[in-house]
Amino acid sequence: MPLPREDCLFCGLVADGEHVHSADGFVAIHDINPVAETHLLVLPQRHVDTFKEVAAFPDDEAARMLRFVSETAKVAGLENYRVLVNVGAGAGQTVFHLHWHVLGGRPDTERIARALAETV
Ligand code: AMP
Ligand code: ZN
Repeated sequence: MPLPREDCLFCGLVADGEHVHSADGFVAIHDINPVAETHLLVLPQRHVDTFKEVAAFPDDEAARMLRFVSETAKVAGLENYRVLVNVGAGAGQTVFHLHWHVLGGRPDTERIARALAETV
């Protein structure tokens, strides 16, 4: 596993954050600015800037990452939810360490509209 990036917020939260779920190489945390009743972030320990670099994950680790996203939703008690990855600043990515949003329950449409407005 490559070393964490010193200057990366999410590398820091993987190493030392409040994890709602964790398993070999992955953690889930609460989003600090939730846009749905349940808004979790899945962070891989391996730092890649964006989803574009997902090929940097060994195949088994990429498969485990998907399973971990699904497990996280289950641990959070979600039956129906959305999984979202913003890829690139133009699509709303603000933290350049790959992460998966897991969104369940009633969306906060005002916050979503504000976030979208910031990307145009
Ligand atoms: P994105 O806009 O897709 O890059 O998502 C970044 C997410 O990280 C946003 O939803 C932020 O609310 C969230 N975020 C930023 N800082 C923190 C933090 N310290 N702890 C938890 N979530 C954070
Ligand atoms: Zn990082």
